[in-house]
Amino acid sequence: MTAPPPSDPGARPPLVGPRTGTGRVASFAAGPAVLPEPVLRRLAEDLWDLDGSGAGILETPHRGAIFDHVLAETVDLVRRVGGVPDDFEVLFLQGGATMQFVLVPMNLLAAGGQAGNAGDAAFLHTGRWTALARREAARHGRVRTIFDGEPGDFRRLPAADDPALAASAAGAAYVHWCSNNTVVGTQWPVAPVLATADGARPTVVCDMSSDAFSRPVAWDAVDLAFAGAQKNLGPAGTVLVVVRRALLEHMRDDRAPMLSYRAHAEAGSRLNTPPTFGIHVIRRVLAWLEDEGGLDAAARRAEARASLLYDAIDASDGFWRGHAEPAARSRMNVVFRGPDEDRERAFVDRCADAGLVGLHGHRSVGGLRASIYNACPMAHVERLAEAMRRFRREA
Ligand SMILES: *Cc1c(COP(=O)(O)O)cnc(C)c1O
Repeated sequence: MTAPPPSDPGARPPLVGPRTGTGRVASFAAGPAVLPEPVLRRLAEDLWDLDGSGAGILETPHRGAIFDHVLAETVDLVRRVGGVPDDFEVLFLQGGATMQFVLVPMNLLAAGGQAGNAGDAAFLHTGRWTALARREAARHGRVRTIFDGEPGDFRRLPAADDPALAASAAGAAYVHWCSNNTVVGTQWPVAPVLATADGARPTVVCDMSSDAFSRPVAWDAVDLAFAGAQKNLGPAGTVLVVVRRALLEHMRDDRAPMLSYRAHAEAGSRLNTPPTFGIHVIRRVLAWLEDEGGLDAAARRAEARASLLYDAIDASDGFWRGHAEPAARSRMNVVFRGPDEDRERAFVDRCADAGLVGLHGHRSVGGLRASIYNACPMAHVERLAEAMRRFRREA
């Protein structure tokens, strides 16, 4: 969808009251997305003087004692807040989630007598991001699709405990799934069950880019998870990778160090200069999240935010239409449509007048999308729900 035409705010009454005293808009952008206000204020200080060191975070060498502390504390926070067990490594890499679409098959798919897992890469194909991951994997080996959401416009997800999933995953080098589908607004309520009756399961890789740290994770069902930071964690470019040590041991060892998870792990994410600022922002964001009650509380807030918007959709007599089937609805990205494109554009426009921005859908699907990650204040969501109700009444 192209950007809406410039609006003339004088021509019509605002949908909801004006923005608040901070001068900031209420952003519903899918990413890079809002960060918590207290974190932003703290970061402004940290740019000037990090932890009383007399130099800012951007000026702090990555192998000095001050950054040693930043990195160690961030890893600790990932483990503590994320409930990550001790047999996983926590890595901070660069190149975003998309780079992991490349590194995962490069490190995991065996070929020509190399280490790695035998077999093909199996995909639970649930949207744009699994399509891109599958395309990258196909450059490095064979792929198979064990669920294909495309014929149904990615509106639904399979039942997580459907035995057909585990049966069709058998023999795969790894299974790739995406916990929250940012573009189409679906989210797995629980992790897919990929173990067969005898308890065996293939290696499992999960793209958690858009719902990491929004709810507790069943780490026993995952071997490698990654998340681009710009949705729930921090700045674009930085990516968090959580990987089981036993899997690292098993990975290919013929890759250049910069393309090797094992080499990154052996170097403690400091093979070269790591994304120091990104790591530090993640540190501040996770400390904030811990103060706010951790993942259980985050999950409750996410549910409350999403309910406000889905209720506004469901109470609109079909004026607003959610894209996802109710059972597959995302608590992070609410994707919906209005009666027609003109009114969708008018709504985006009038919301922008009121300081509610970033509501247009992904360019590949159009319509509307409200991204309501961890840092999105409830008050912003209340204003959006009110705008949806009022626009519908006035239509
Ligand atoms: C945003 C996103 C990506 C891509 O992230 P980049 O940092 O742009 O590579 C991949 N997967 C999911 C689920 C996403 O939301």
